[in-house]
Amino acid sequence: SPVHLSSFFEMLCETLEKVAEKKQISLEMMVPDELFIEGDEDKLRQIFINLLSNGISYTQEGGRVRVQAYTLQRENEEEKIVFAVSDTGIGIPKKDLPRIFERFYRVDKGRSRNSGGTGLGLSIVKHLVELHHGTLSVESELGIGTTFTIELPVIQEQEY
Ligand code: ATP
Ligand code: MG
Repeated sequence: SPVHLSSFFEMLCETLEKVAEKKQISLEMMVPDELFIEGDEDKLRQIFINLLSNGISYTQEGGRVRVQAYTLQRENEEEKIVFAVSDTGIGIPKKDLPRIFERFYRVDKGRSRNSGGTGLGLSIVKHLVELHHGTLSVESELGIGTTFTIELPVIQEQEY
């Protein structure tokens, strides 16, 4: 069924606000009011809770975590919605980028110690994006921040 994206992200931000506030991280949502997507709301929630939680975990106090959504129409392609989850955090070393979507992979125990994660979050995100026939990519710069970009078809024709 159609998910109204700005309501969806508003609820997610409410869920994560307390954690963000503790670290004085500002959570920003830039989602136009008219956007809907056909998808499984629970699975979409899992995707974005994981990405936003990572953003909060791997960003120092006073930083910023942002989600943007917009439509994209390429020639001869179905309409997509692009989601960008970006942060001003610690970043990911180039050599680790190819492996972060593997199960249990964590960049190094020292930097991830405080978050107490298992290294499963991003492997789940990748799986759920694929179920939605979408694509997932990451760009990161050490000490500057990280952006995860997801493209999902607006209309889902198959089961997920
Ligand atoms: P969890 O299973 O609780 O999510 P996790 O956060 O360690 O544990 P992933 O979400 O799969 O696992 O992320 C894998 C690793 O990638 C993290 O341990 C962290 O080193 C790195 N990482 C993920 N997101 C970011 C980010 N936004 N900024 C910097 N590093 C990140
Ligand atoms: Mg995680």
